[in-house]
Amino acid sequence: MQFSEMSLVPEILRAVEEIGYTEATDIQIGAIPVLLSGKDLIGRSNTGTGKTAAFGIPVVQMVAQSNQERGQVLILSPTRELAMQTGVEVRKFSKYLQNIRVAVVCGGESMQFQIRQLRTAQIIVGTPGRIMDHMRRRTLSLENLKTVILDEADEMLNMGFVEDIQTILRQAPENRQTVLFSATMPPAILKITKEFQTDPQMIAVDKGQKTVDNIAQYYCNVPNVDKTNALKLLLAYHRPKRALVFCNTKKTVDELCTQLKEGGFQAAGIHGDLKQNQRNQVMSDFKNGHVGILIATDVAARGIDVEDVDAVFNYDIPDEDEYYIHRIGRTGRAGKTGASYTLTASRTQLKRLHSLERFMDSHIAEAPVPKTEDIQEQHLKKFRGNLKQLLDESSGSEWISFIEELEQSGYDAKKVAAALCKTVYEKDRSLRTLKNVQVEKQNPVQPEVARVNIDIGTESKINADFIVGTIVEATGLAIGAIGKIAIYRDHTVVEMAPTDAELVLKKMNGYRIRQRTIHITELKGKKPASFTQNAGKAHPSYGSRRYTGGKSHSGPGAAHKYHNGRSK
Ligand code: ADP
Ligand code: MG
Repeated sequence: MQFSEMSLVPEILRAVEEIGYTEATDIQIGAIPVLLSGKDLIGRSNTGTGKTAAFGIPVVQMVAQSNQERGQVLILSPTRELAMQTGVEVRKFSKYLQNIRVAVVCGGESMQFQIRQLRTAQIIVGTPGRIMDHMRRRTLSLENLKTVILDEADEMLNMGFVEDIQTILRQAPENRQTVLFSATMPPAILKITKEFQTDPQMIAVDKGQKTVDNIAQYYCNVPNVDKTNALKLLLAYHRPKRALVFCNTKKTVDELCTQLKEGGFQAAGIHGDLKQNQRNQVMSDFKNGHVGILIATDVAARGIDVEDVDAVFNYDIPDEDEYYIHRIGRTGRAGKTGASYTLTASRTQLKRLHSLERFMDSHIAEAPVPKTEDIQEQHLKKFRGNLKQLLDESSGSEWISFIEELEQSGYDAKKVAAALCKTVYEKDRSLRTLKNVQVEKQNPVQPEVARVNIDIGTESKINADFIVGTIVEATGLAIGAIGKIAIYRDHTVVEMAPTDAELVLKKMNGYRIRQRTIHITELKGKKPASFTQNAGKAHPSYGSRRYTGGKSHSGPGAAHKYHNGRSK
Protein backbone atom coordinates (compact mmCIF):
# COMPACT_ATOMS: atom_id res chain seq x y z
CA MET A 1 0.00 0.00 0.00
CA GLN A 2 1.21 3.46 -0.88
CA PHE A 3 1.37 6.24 1.71
CA SER A 4 -0.74 8.33 -0.64
CA GLU A 5 -3.65 5.91 -0.02
CA MET A 6 -3.54 6.40 3.75
CA SER A 7 -5.52 9.62 4.20
CA LEU A 8 -2.54 11.63 5.37
CA VAL A 9 -2.38 15.41 5.10
CA PRO A 10 -0.48 16.69 2.02
CA GLU A 11 2.33 18.18 4.14
CA ILE A 12 3.15 14.77 5.58
CA LEU A 13 2.87 13.01 2.22
CA ARG A 14 5.31 15.50 0.79
CA ALA A 15 7.77 14.90 3.64
CA VAL A 16 7.48 11.13 3.39
CA GLU A 17 8.04 11.29 -0.33
CA GLU A 18 11.09 13.45 0.20
CA ILE A 19 12.54 10.94 2.65
CA GLY A 20 12.11 8.36 -0.09
CA TYR A 21 9.36 6.09 1.20
CA THR A 22 6.68 5.09 -1.28
CA GLU A 23 5.24 1.76 -0.15
CA ALA A 24 4.30 1.47 3.51
CA THR A 25 5.66 -1.55 5.36
CA ASP A 26 3.28 -4.15 6.86
CA ILE A 27 3.47 -2.78 10.37
CA GLN A 28 2.85 0.72 9.02
CA ILE A 29 -0.18 -0.44 7.03
CA GLY A 30 -1.56 -2.06 10.17
CA ALA A 31 -0.65 0.56 12.75
CA ILE A 32 -1.17 3.94 11.09
CA PRO A 33 -4.98 3.72 10.72
CA VAL A 34 -5.37 2.33 14.26
CA LEU A 35 -3.29 5.15 15.74
CA LEU A 36 -5.22 7.74 13.76
CA SER A 37 -8.48 6.28 15.04
CA GLY A 38 -7.32 6.93 18.61
CA LYS A 39 -7.37 3.29 19.69
CA ASP A 40 -4.80 1.58 21.88
CA LEU A 41 -2.40 -0.66 20.03
CA ILE A 42 0.13 -3.39 20.56
CA GLY A 43 2.46 -3.55 17.57
CA ARG A 44 4.93 -6.32 17.17
CA SER A 45 7.36 -6.67 14.32
CA ASN A 46 11.02 -7.40 13.91
CA THR A 47 13.68 -4.76 14.07
CA GLY A 48 14.08 -2.82 10.87
CA THR A 49 10.49 -3.08 9.73
CA GLY A 50 9.73 0.62 10.11
CA LYS A 51 8.10 0.95 13.51
CA THR A 52 9.33 4.54 13.96
CA ALA A 53 7.29 5.77 11.01
CA ALA A 54 4.39 3.52 12.05
CA PHE A 55 3.86 5.79 15.06
CA GLY A 56 5.81 8.89 13.96
CA ILE A 57 3.60 9.63 10.97
CA PRO A 58 0.21 9.30 12.73
CA VAL A 59 1.25 11.30 15.82
CA VAL A 60 2.41 14.18 13.61
CA GLN A 61 -0.91 14.06 11.79
CA MET A 62 -2.87 13.98 15.04
CA VAL A 63 -1.03 17.04 16.34
CA ALA A 64 -1.45 18.82 13.00
CA GLN A 65 -5.19 18.32 13.28
CA SER A 66 -5.38 19.40 16.93
CA ASN A 67 -5.44 22.77 18.68
CA GLN A 68 -1.67 22.40 18.88
CA GLU A 69 -1.37 22.85 22.64
CA ARG A 70 1.90 21.56 24.06
CA GLY A 71 2.62 18.13 25.55
CA GLN A 72 0.13 16.05 23.57
CA VAL A 73 2.34 13.14 22.63
CA LEU A 74 4.95 11.37 24.72
CA ILE A 75 7.30 8.86 23.09
CA LEU A 76 9.34 6.78 25.52
CA SER A 77 12.58 5.24 24.25
CA PRO A 78 14.96 2.89 26.03
CA THR A 79 18.15 4.76 25.18
CA ARG A 80 19.42 8.27 24.61
CA GLU A 81 20.58 7.35 21.11
CA LEU A 82 17.23 5.96 20.10
CA ALA A 83 15.38 8.94 21.56
CA MET A 84 17.53 11.32 19.54
CA GLN A 85 17.17 9.27 16.39
CA THR A 86 13.40 9.08 16.83
CA GLY A 87 13.33 12.85 17.40
CA VAL A 88 15.17 13.40 14.12
CA GLU A 89 12.76 11.12 12.22
CA VAL A 90 9.62 12.66 13.70
CA ARG A 91 10.92 16.14 12.86
CA LYS A 92 11.37 14.99 9.27
CA PHE A 93 7.72 13.93 9.05
CA SER A 94 6.63 17.33 10.37
CA LYS A 95 9.03 19.29 8.19
CA TYR A 96 6.27 21.03 6.21
CA LEU A 97 4.06 21.69 9.20
CA GLN A 98 5.38 24.97 10.59
CA ASN A 99 3.85 24.88 14.05
CA ILE A 100 4.78 21.39 15.12
CA ARG A 101 7.63 21.21 17.62
CA VAL A 102 9.43 18.12 18.81
CA ALA A 103 11.43 18.09 22.05
CA VAL A 104 13.99 15.41 22.78
CA VAL A 105 14.70 14.98 26.47
CA CYS A 106 17.33 12.51 27.59
CA GLY A 107 20.24 12.34 29.96
CA GLY A 108 23.55 14.01 29.24
CA GLU A 109 22.05 17.04 27.53
CA SER A 110 21.53 20.55 28.81
CA MET A 111 18.58 20.76 31.12
CA GLN A 112 18.00 24.44 30.29
CA PHE A 113 17.78 23.75 26.58
CA GLN A 114 15.31 20.92 27.19
CA ILE A 115 13.18 23.12 29.44
CA ARG A 116 12.97 25.74 26.72
CA GLN A 117 11.95 23.11 24.16
CA LEU A 118 9.32 21.72 26.47
CA ARG A 119 7.55 25.09 26.69
CA THR A 120 6.29 24.75 23.13
CA ALA A 121 6.72 21.15 21.95
CA GLN A 122 3.60 19.12 21.25
CA ILE A 123 5.62 15.94 20.76
CA ILE A 124 8.12 14.88 23.41
CA VAL A 125 10.58 12.05 22.91
CA GLY A 126 12.67 10.88 25.81
CA THR A 127 14.07 8.24 28.08
CA PRO A 128 11.90 7.36 31.10
CA GLY A 129 14.49 8.62 33.61
CA ARG A 130 14.82 12.11 32.20
CA ILE A 131 11.10 12.40 31.54
CA MET A 132 10.48 11.71 35.23
CA ASP A 133 13.10 14.31 36.15
CA HIS A 134 11.19 16.93 34.23
CA MET A 135 7.90 15.81 35.71
CA ARG A 136 9.34 16.20 39.22
CA ARG A 137 10.67 19.67 38.42
CA ARG A 138 7.31 20.52 36.90
CA THR A 139 8.99 21.54 33.67
CA LEU A 140 6.92 18.88 31.95
CA SER A 141 3.21 18.55 32.51
CA LEU A 142 1.13 15.62 31.30
CA GLU A 143 -2.19 17.40 31.56
CA ASN A 144 -2.61 17.80 27.80
CA LEU A 145 -1.32 14.32 27.05
CA LYS A 146 -3.38 12.45 24.46
CA THR A 147 -1.05 9.71 23.26
CA VAL A 148 1.78 7.75 24.87
CA ILE A 149 4.05 5.61 22.72
CA LEU A 150 6.25 2.97 24.33
CA ASP A 151 8.86 2.29 21.68
CA GLU A 152 10.99 -0.86 22.00
CA ALA A 153 9.02 -1.80 25.06
CA ASP A 154 10.85 -5.10 25.50
CA GLU A 155 14.16 -3.29 25.59
CA MET A 156 12.86 -0.77 28.13
CA LEU A 157 11.76 -3.61 30.39
CA ASN A 158 15.11 -5.39 29.95
CA MET A 159 16.81 -2.22 31.08
CA GLY A 160 14.77 -2.09 34.25
CA PHE A 161 12.48 0.81 33.37
CA VAL A 162 9.29 -0.97 34.44
CA GLU A 163 8.70 1.14 37.51
CA ASP A 164 9.49 4.40 35.75
CA ILE A 165 7.05 3.52 32.99
CA GLN A 166 4.39 2.65 35.55
CA THR A 167 4.96 5.93 37.39
CA ILE A 168 4.67 7.92 34.19
CA LEU A 169 1.55 6.11 32.96
CA ARG A 170 -0.16 6.44 36.32
CA GLN A 171 0.23 10.21 36.14
CA ALA A 172 -1.01 10.46 32.59
CA PRO A 173 -4.66 11.39 31.98
CA GLU A 174 -6.95 8.36 32.04
CA ASN A 175 -8.52 8.80 28.65
CA ARG A 176 -5.24 8.90 26.76
CA GLN A 177 -4.27 6.57 23.96
CA THR A 178 -1.56 4.06 24.88
CA VAL A 179 0.51 2.48 22.13
CA LEU A 180 3.19 -0.11 22.59
CA PHE A 181 5.75 -1.29 20.06
CA SER A 182 8.08 -4.16 20.57
CA ALA A 183 10.07 -6.74 18.63
CA THR A 184 9.25 -9.44 21.19
CA MET A 185 6.37 -9.98 23.61
CA PRO A 186 7.70 -11.28 26.92
CA PRO A 187 5.12 -11.80 29.70
CA ALA A 188 6.16 -8.63 31.52
CA ILE A 189 4.92 -6.63 28.54
CA LEU A 190 1.57 -8.34 28.60
CA LYS A 191 1.30 -7.23 32.22
CA ILE A 192 1.87 -3.59 31.27
CA THR A 193 -0.67 -4.03 28.51
CA LYS A 194 -3.28 -5.35 30.92
CA GLU A 195 -2.77 -2.57 33.42
CA PHE A 196 -2.45 0.41 31.13
CA GLN A 197 -4.23 -0.29 27.88
CA THR A 198 -7.90 -0.39 27.07
CA ASP A 199 -9.04 -2.97 24.57
CA PRO A 200 -5.83 -2.72 22.54
CA GLN A 201 -5.65 -3.79 18.92
CA MET A 202 -2.90 -6.26 18.28
CA ILE A 203 -0.94 -5.94 15.10
CA ALA A 204 1.72 -8.59 14.75
CA VAL A 205 3.74 -8.97 11.62
CA ASP A 206 5.60 -12.21 11.09
CA LYS A 207 7.55 -12.84 7.98
CA GLY A 208 5.14 -14.28 5.48
CA GLN A 209 2.75 -15.65 8.07
CA LYS A 210 -0.85 -14.62 8.10
CA THR A 211 -1.66 -13.01 11.38
CA VAL A 212 -4.59 -14.45 13.25
CA ASP A 213 -3.81 -12.56 16.44
CA ASN A 214 -7.10 -10.70 16.34
CA ILE A 215 -9.05 -13.95 16.18
CA ALA A 216 -9.77 -15.67 19.49
CA GLN A 217 -9.55 -19.38 18.73
CA TYR A 218 -11.48 -21.92 20.79
CA TYR A 219 -12.40 -25.55 20.61
CA CYS A 220 -15.11 -27.58 22.30
CA ASN A 221 -14.64 -31.27 22.83
CA VAL A 222 -18.02 -33.01 22.65
CA PRO A 223 -19.41 -36.50 22.07
CA ASN A 224 -20.00 -37.16 18.37
CA VAL A 225 -23.78 -37.47 18.76
CA ASP A 226 -23.90 -34.05 20.42
CA LYS A 227 -22.16 -32.03 17.72
CA THR A 228 -25.28 -30.38 16.32
CA ASN A 229 -26.59 -29.75 19.77
CA ALA A 230 -23.28 -28.15 20.82
CA LEU A 231 -23.32 -25.94 17.75
CA LYS A 232 -26.84 -24.77 18.55
CA LEU A 233 -25.81 -23.94 22.10
CA LEU A 234 -22.81 -21.98 20.87
CA LEU A 235 -24.93 -20.08 18.36
CA ALA A 236 -27.66 -19.35 20.90
CA TYR A 237 -25.17 -18.16 23.46
CA HIS A 238 -22.94 -16.00 21.28
CA ARG A 239 -25.72 -14.80 18.98
CA PRO A 240 -23.41 -13.77 16.15
CA LYS A 241 -25.01 -11.37 13.67
CA ARG A 242 -23.16 -13.15 10.90
CA ALA A 243 -21.62 -16.57 11.32
CA LEU A 244 -19.99 -19.04 8.97
CA VAL A 245 -20.23 -22.74 9.76
CA PHE A 246 -17.87 -25.09 7.94
CA CYS A 247 -18.50 -28.74 7.17
CA ASN A 248 -16.27 -31.17 5.30
CA THR A 249 -18.94 -32.59 2.97
CA LYS A 250 -21.94 -31.35 0.99
CA LYS A 251 -24.09 -33.95 2.69
CA THR A 252 -23.24 -32.61 6.15
CA VAL A 253 -23.97 -29.08 4.97
CA ASP A 254 -27.47 -30.12 3.87
CA GLU A 255 -28.22 -32.17 6.96
CA LEU A 256 -26.94 -29.54 9.36
CA CYS A 257 -28.86 -26.84 7.54
CA THR A 258 -32.11 -28.78 7.90
CA GLN A 259 -31.47 -29.42 11.57
CA LEU A 260 -30.64 -25.80 12.37
CA LYS A 261 -33.68 -24.53 10.52
CA GLU A 262 -35.89 -27.03 12.32
CA GLY A 263 -34.36 -25.74 15.54
CA GLY A 264 -35.49 -22.20 14.74
CA PHE A 265 -32.18 -20.79 13.51
CA GLN A 266 -31.98 -18.58 10.41
CA ALA A 267 -29.55 -20.70 8.43
CA ALA A 268 -28.75 -21.41 4.81
CA GLY A 269 -26.34 -23.82 3.17
CA ILE A 270 -24.03 -23.36 0.23
CA HIS A 271 -22.02 -25.91 -1.71
CA GLY A 272 -20.98 -26.87 -5.22
CA ASP A 273 -24.20 -28.72 -6.07
CA LEU A 274 -26.30 -25.57 -5.94
CA LYS A 275 -27.05 -23.82 -9.22
CA GLN A 276 -25.47 -20.43 -9.74
CA ASN A 277 -28.73 -18.53 -9.20
CA GLN A 278 -29.38 -20.46 -5.99
CA ARG A 279 -25.91 -19.60 -4.77
CA ASN A 280 -26.42 -15.95 -5.62
CA GLN A 281 -29.68 -15.96 -3.68
CA VAL A 282 -28.06 -17.54 -0.62
CA MET A 283 -25.16 -15.11 -0.74
CA SER A 284 -27.37 -12.05 -1.03
CA ASP A 285 -29.54 -13.32 1.86
CA PHE A 286 -26.41 -13.67 3.96
CA LYS A 287 -25.01 -10.31 2.97
CA ASN A 288 -28.16 -8.34 3.61
CA GLY A 289 -28.76 -10.09 6.92
CA HIS A 290 -31.89 -12.13 6.11
CA VAL A 291 -29.89 -15.20 6.99
CA GLY A 292 -27.41 -14.92 9.84
CA ILE A 293 -25.82 -18.34 9.60
CA LEU A 294 -24.20 -19.61 6.45
CA ILE A 295 -23.16 -23.26 6.34
CA ALA A 296 -20.55 -24.03 3.72
CA THR A 297 -17.98 -26.44 2.39
CA ASP A 298 -14.41 -25.22 1.93
CA VAL A 299 -14.72 -25.08 -1.84
CA ALA A 300 -17.99 -23.14 -1.83
CA ALA A 301 -16.61 -20.70 0.72
CA ARG A 302 -13.86 -19.61 -1.60
CA GLY A 303 -16.03 -17.18 -3.48
CA ILE A 304 -17.51 -15.66 -0.36
CA ASP A 305 -16.50 -12.05 0.15
CA VAL A 306 -18.22 -10.83 3.26
CA GLU A 307 -16.35 -8.55 5.62
CA ASP A 308 -18.44 -8.59 8.76
CA VAL A 309 -18.37 -12.18 9.97
CA ASP A 310 -18.41 -12.20 13.79
CA ALA A 311 -17.54 -15.84 14.24
CA VAL A 312 -16.51 -18.95 12.36
CA PHE A 313 -17.60 -22.39 13.54
CA ASN A 314 -15.84 -25.53 12.41
CA TYR A 315 -18.56 -28.12 12.70
CA ASP A 316 -16.03 -30.56 11.25
CA ILE A 317 -12.35 -30.17 11.88
CA PRO A 318 -10.78 -29.43 8.47
CA ASP A 319 -8.86 -32.10 6.57
CA GLU A 320 -6.15 -29.74 5.43
CA ASP A 321 -4.15 -27.42 7.68
CA GLU A 322 -4.42 -24.62 5.14
CA TYR A 323 -8.22 -24.84 5.20
CA TYR A 324 -8.19 -23.97 8.88
CA ILE A 325 -6.44 -20.67 8.16
CA HIS A 326 -8.76 -19.90 5.28
CA ARG A 327 -11.80 -20.71 7.36
CA ILE A 328 -11.00 -18.71 10.47
CA GLY A 329 -9.51 -15.93 8.35
CA ARG A 330 -13.09 -15.14 7.28
CA THR A 331 -13.59 -13.40 10.59
CA GLY A 332 -11.51 -10.68 12.22
CA ARG A 333 -11.17 -8.79 8.98
CA ALA A 334 -10.55 -5.11 8.38
CA GLY A 335 -8.98 -4.64 11.78
CA LYS A 336 -11.95 -6.11 13.66
CA THR A 337 -11.73 -8.88 16.21
CA GLY A 338 -13.32 -12.25 15.60
CA ALA A 339 -13.71 -15.65 17.17
CA SER A 340 -13.51 -19.21 15.93
CA TYR A 341 -14.94 -22.34 17.53
CA THR A 342 -13.89 -25.79 16.42
CA LEU A 343 -15.76 -28.91 17.49
CA THR A 344 -13.71 -32.00 18.22
CA ALA A 345 -15.50 -35.26 18.79
CA SER A 346 -12.82 -37.91 19.30
CA ARG A 347 -9.31 -38.36 20.59
CA THR A 348 -8.04 -38.44 17.02
CA GLN A 349 -9.70 -35.12 16.31
CA LEU A 350 -8.28 -33.66 19.49
CA LYS A 351 -4.82 -34.71 18.36
CA ARG A 352 -5.52 -33.20 14.99
CA LEU A 353 -6.43 -29.97 16.73
CA HIS A 354 -3.13 -29.94 18.58
CA SER A 355 -1.32 -30.41 15.28
CA LEU A 356 -3.26 -27.43 13.91
CA GLU A 357 -1.99 -25.39 16.83
CA ARG A 358 1.54 -26.30 15.86
CA PHE A 359 0.90 -25.51 12.23
CA MET A 360 -0.68 -22.19 13.10
CA ASP A 361 1.92 -21.44 15.68
CA SER A 362 -0.82 -20.24 17.97
CA HIS A 363 -2.89 -21.46 20.86
CA ILE A 364 -6.44 -22.76 20.55
CA ALA A 365 -8.08 -22.58 23.95
CA GLU A 366 -10.60 -25.09 25.21
CA ALA A 367 -14.00 -23.53 25.82
CA PRO A 368 -16.92 -25.14 27.62
CA VAL A 369 -20.14 -25.63 25.68
CA PRO A 370 -22.64 -23.09 27.04
CA LYS A 371 -25.41 -24.52 29.19
CA THR A 372 -29.08 -23.97 28.48
CA GLU A 373 -29.48 -22.27 31.88
CA ASP A 374 -26.78 -19.73 30.99
CA ILE A 375 -28.43 -19.07 27.66
CA GLN A 376 -31.88 -18.64 29.21
CA GLU A 377 -30.48 -16.29 31.78
CA GLN A 378 -28.64 -14.27 29.18
CA HIS A 379 -31.72 -14.01 26.96
CA LEU A 380 -33.89 -13.06 29.89
CA LYS A 381 -31.49 -10.32 30.86
CA LYS A 382 -31.58 -8.97 27.37
CA PHE A 383 -35.34 -9.23 27.19
CA ARG A 384 -35.69 -7.35 30.44
CA GLY A 385 -33.24 -4.69 29.24
CA ASN A 386 -35.16 -4.20 26.01
CA LEU A 387 -38.45 -3.99 27.85
CA LYS A 388 -37.10 -1.43 30.30
CA GLN A 389 -35.83 0.66 27.45
CA LEU A 390 -39.22 0.56 25.74
CA LEU A 391 -40.88 1.63 29.00
CA ASP A 392 -38.40 4.48 29.46
CA GLU A 393 -39.22 5.65 25.97
CA SER A 394 -42.96 5.34 26.74
CA SER A 395 -43.18 3.21 23.67
CA GLY A 396 -46.60 1.77 22.87
CA SER A 397 -48.62 4.59 24.40
CA GLU A 398 -51.06 4.24 21.52
CA TRP A 399 -52.06 0.88 23.02
CA ILE A 400 -53.07 2.27 26.42
CA SER A 401 -56.72 2.67 25.49
CA PHE A 402 -56.77 -0.95 24.31
CA ILE A 403 -55.39 -2.12 27.68
CA GLU A 404 -57.96 0.00 29.46
CA GLU A 405 -60.68 -1.63 27.42
CA LEU A 406 -59.37 -5.03 28.51
CA GLU A 407 -59.36 -3.86 32.13
CA GLN A 408 -62.93 -2.65 31.84
CA SER A 409 -64.01 -6.04 30.61
CA GLY A 410 -62.44 -7.55 33.74
CA TYR A 411 -58.86 -8.47 32.79
CA ASP A 412 -56.03 -7.70 35.17
CA ALA A 413 -53.38 -5.48 33.52
CA LYS A 414 -50.61 -7.53 35.19
CA LYS A 415 -51.92 -10.70 33.63
CA VAL A 416 -52.19 -9.02 30.25
CA ALA A 417 -48.55 -7.93 30.51
CA ALA A 418 -47.47 -11.44 31.53
CA ALA A 419 -49.25 -13.03 28.58
CA LEU A 420 -47.59 -10.55 26.21
CA CYS A 421 -44.15 -11.26 27.71
CA LYS A 422 -44.68 -14.96 27.12
CA THR A 423 -45.69 -14.44 23.51
CA VAL A 424 -42.80 -12.16 22.71
CA TYR A 425 -40.13 -14.05 24.64
CA GLU A 426 -41.05 -17.39 23.18
CA LYS A 427 -41.07 -16.06 19.67
CA ASP A 428 -37.43 -17.06 19.45
CA ARG A 429 -38.05 -20.71 18.66
CA SER A 430 -34.38 -21.58 18.78
CA LEU A 431 -34.44 -21.44 22.58
CA ARG A 432 -36.99 -24.21 22.84
CA THR A 433 -35.00 -26.90 21.09
CA LEU A 434 -31.83 -26.54 23.10
CA LYS A 435 -30.62 -29.30 25.35
CA ASN A 436 -27.45 -29.58 27.35
CA VAL A 437 -24.45 -31.49 26.09
CA GLN A 438 -23.34 -34.23 28.42
CA VAL A 439 -19.60 -34.03 28.37
CA GLU A 440 -18.14 -37.27 29.54
CA LYS A 441 -14.95 -36.79 31.49
CA GLN A 442 -12.25 -38.13 29.23
CA ASN A 443 -8.66 -38.66 30.15
CA PRO A 444 -6.66 -35.81 28.73
CA VAL A 445 -4.84 -36.87 25.61
CA GLN A 446 -1.47 -36.11 27.08
CA PRO A 447 -1.30 -36.74 30.77
CA GLU A 448 2.47 -37.14 30.74
CA VAL A 449 4.91 -34.32 30.93
CA ALA A 450 8.02 -33.78 28.86
CA ARG A 451 11.17 -32.12 30.10
CA VAL A 452 13.12 -29.91 27.77
CA ASN A 453 16.76 -29.09 28.42
CA ILE A 454 18.14 -25.74 27.24
CA ASP A 455 21.90 -25.22 27.47
CA ILE A 456 21.79 -21.79 29.04
CA GLY A 457 21.59 -21.02 32.75
CA THR A 458 22.18 -18.55 35.57
CA GLU A 459 25.69 -17.76 34.37
CA SER A 460 24.10 -16.09 31.36
CA LYS A 461 21.98 -13.93 33.69
CA ILE A 462 18.65 -15.38 32.73
CA ASN A 463 15.63 -15.92 34.92
CA ALA A 464 12.33 -17.74 34.63
CA ASP A 465 10.47 -14.75 33.20
CA PHE A 466 13.05 -14.47 30.50
CA ILE A 467 12.84 -18.18 29.65
CA VAL A 468 9.04 -18.12 29.53
CA GLY A 469 9.09 -14.97 27.42
CA THR A 470 11.61 -16.40 25.00
CA ILE A 471 9.70 -19.65 24.54
CA VAL A 472 6.38 -17.86 24.09
CA GLU A 473 7.93 -15.51 21.58
CA ALA A 474 9.68 -18.21 19.60
CA THR A 475 6.87 -20.74 19.49
CA GLY A 476 3.62 -18.89 20.03
CA LEU A 477 2.74 -21.23 22.89
CA ALA A 478 0.55 -19.74 25.58
CA ILE A 479 2.29 -18.70 28.79
CA GLY A 480 0.13 -21.19 30.62
CA ALA A 481 1.49 -24.07 28.54
CA ILE A 482 4.84 -23.73 30.23
CA GLY A 483 5.17 -25.69 33.43
CA LYS A 484 7.86 -25.82 36.06
CA ILE A 485 11.22 -24.31 35.31
CA ALA A 486 14.50 -25.21 37.00
CA ILE A 487 17.48 -22.99 36.21
CA TYR A 488 20.96 -24.34 36.84
CA ARG A 489 24.34 -22.72 36.35
CA ASP A 490 24.72 -23.74 32.73
CA HIS A 491 21.38 -25.23 31.75
CA THR A 492 17.67 -24.93 32.30
CA VAL A 493 14.98 -27.58 32.39
CA VAL A 494 11.41 -26.69 31.48
CA GLU A 495 8.36 -28.91 31.86
CA MET A 496 5.53 -28.89 29.34
CA ALA A 497 3.15 -31.15 27.45
CA PRO A 498 4.91 -33.52 25.01
CA THR A 499 3.40 -31.95 21.87
CA ASP A 500 4.52 -28.55 23.09
CA ALA A 501 7.99 -29.95 23.74
CA GLU A 502 8.09 -31.19 20.15
CA LEU A 503 7.28 -27.69 18.98
CA VAL A 504 9.96 -26.12 21.17
CA LEU A 505 12.53 -28.59 19.85
CA LYS A 506 11.54 -27.88 16.29
CA LYS A 507 11.36 -24.12 16.56
CA MET A 508 14.07 -23.26 18.99
CA ASN A 509 17.05 -25.41 18.19
CA GLY A 510 19.73 -23.05 16.99
CA TYR A 511 17.79 -20.08 18.36
CA ARG A 512 19.93 -17.23 19.65
CA ILE A 513 19.68 -16.05 23.23
CA ARG A 514 22.06 -13.50 24.70
CA GLN A 515 24.26 -13.61 21.59
CA ARG A 516 24.59 -17.39 21.86
CA THR A 517 23.18 -20.18 19.79
CA ILE A 518 21.33 -22.50 22.12
CA HIS A 519 20.75 -26.24 21.87
CA ILE A 520 17.63 -27.95 23.05
CA THR A 521 17.13 -31.61 23.87
CA GLU A 522 14.35 -33.56 25.44
CA LEU A 523 15.30 -35.25 28.71
CA LYS A 524 14.14 -38.84 28.89
CA GLY A 525 13.89 -41.06 31.90
CA LYS A 526 13.07 -40.35 35.51
CA LYS A 527 12.81 -36.90 36.99
CA PRO A 528 15.69 -35.78 39.19
CA ALA A 529 15.03 -35.25 42.88
CA SER A 530 15.14 -31.49 42.55
CA PHE A 531 11.94 -31.58 40.57
CA THR A 532 9.91 -33.95 42.59
CA GLN A 533 10.49 -32.08 45.87
CA ASN A 534 8.53 -29.10 44.79
CA ALA A 535 6.33 -30.73 42.24
CA GLY A 536 2.77 -31.14 43.33
CA LYS A 537 1.43 -32.65 40.15
CA ALA A 538 2.78 -34.91 37.48
CA HIS A 539 1.83 -32.62 34.62
CA PRO A 540 2.23 -28.91 34.18
CA SER A 541 -0.46 -26.83 35.71
CA TYR A 542 -1.74 -23.82 33.89
CA GLY A 543 -1.89 -20.25 35.04
CA SER A 544 0.49 -17.53 36.01
CA ARG A 545 4.00 -18.13 37.18
CA ARG A 546 4.82 -18.28 40.80
CA TYR A 547 8.26 -18.25 42.28
CA THR A 548 8.41 -20.93 44.93
CA GLY A 549 11.96 -20.74 46.05
CA GLY A 550 15.47 -20.60 44.78
CA LYS A 551 18.45 -21.27 46.93
CA SER A 552 20.85 -18.40 47.05
CA HIS A 553 23.95 -20.58 47.26
CA SER A 554 25.23 -21.29 43.85
CA GLY A 555 27.50 -23.82 42.29
CA PRO A 556 26.78 -26.76 40.09
CA GLY A 557 23.58 -28.50 40.96
CA ALA A 558 21.98 -25.63 42.84
CA ALA A 559 18.86 -24.95 40.90
CA HIS A 560 16.53 -22.00 41.00
CA LYS A 561 13.14 -23.52 40.87
CA TYR A 562 10.04 -21.83 39.66
CA HIS A 563 6.60 -23.18 39.57
CA ASN A 564 4.37 -22.12 36.80
CA GLY A 565 1.20 -22.89 38.65
CA ARG A 566 -2.17 -21.53 39.44
CA SER A 567 -1.90 -19.58 42.65
CA LYS A 568 -5.61 -19.45 43.50
P1 ADP B 1 12.21 -0.55 13.58
O1 ADP B 1 11.74 0.48 14.56
O2 ADP B 1 11.25 -1.60 13.28
O3 ADP B 1 13.54 -1.11 13.96
P2 ADP B 1 12.84 1.68 11.87
O4 ADP B 1 11.69 2.56 12.06
O5 ADP B 1 14.08 2.07 12.57
O6 ADP B 1 12.45 0.17 12.16
O7 ADP B 1 13.11 1.60 10.31
C1 ADP B 1 14.14 0.83 9.75
C2 ADP B 1 14.61 1.43 8.46
O8 ADP B 1 13.62 1.32 7.47
C3 ADP B 1 14.96 2.90 8.57
O9 ADP B 1 16.12 3.14 7.85
C4 ADP B 1 13.78 3.59 7.93
O10 ADP B 1 14.16 4.82 7.36
C5 ADP B 1 13.37 2.58 6.88
N1 ADP B 1 11.96 2.64 6.52
C6 ADP B 1 10.92 2.74 7.38
N2 ADP B 1 9.76 2.75 6.70
C7 ADP B 1 10.04 2.62 5.40
C8 ADP B 1 9.26 2.57 4.19
N3 ADP B 1 7.92 2.60 4.24
N4 ADP B 1 9.89 2.45 3.02
C9 ADP B 1 11.24 2.40 2.99
N5 ADP B 1 12.03 2.45 4.07
C10 ADP B 1 11.46 2.56 5.27
MG1 MG C 1 12.44 1.00 16.44
